[in-house]
Amino acid sequence: MRIIDLTLTISESIPTFPGAPKPSFIDWNNLKDDGYNLELLFLSSHTGTHMDAPFHFVKKGKKIHEINPSRFVSEAILIKLRTNKAITKTDIQKFEKRRGKIESGSTVIFSTGWQKNLKKDIYFTKNPGLSTSAANYLALKKVNLVGIDSPSIDLGSNSEQ
Ligand SMILES: [Zn+2]
Repeated sequence: MRIIDLTLTISESIPTFPGAPKPSFIDWNNLKDDGYNLELLFLSSHTGTHMDAPFHFVKKGKKIHEINPSRFVSEAILIKLRTNKAITKTDIQKFEKRRGKIESGSTVIFSTGWQKNLKKDIYFTKNPGLSTSAANYLALKKVNLVGIDSPSIDLGSNSEQ
């Protein structure tokens, strides 16, 4: 398996969700005085590339540390859709007709090209995301996880993060 890091680099200049704090990195220890470098991090759990655990929206949902980490490294099905609109169940079914059925337990990654807008004002407000029909379709298939190169799996026009 070829491992591909899909994460954005977190820096003090990375854009954050409207209303979320900008990340800060505070030098705490250094090699010269302490024998080691160490910094404090102040950032939202939604800074840059992140995972939404069920607890994000479900009162008694699992928190991220309660999910087996083996689920976070896997083979993946890449679906390329150059769009800034809702990704629908029909889009996924068209992909399956061309490339084969998405099986239960699959990891599905959507590549929309949206990350090119990272520094633009529209990044958090006009981003592509899953429609309810697509989300339900993948949930019924019991996929392992769904990823997207967008700030949220929800459409930018949806206020949820
Ligand atoms: Zn999120």
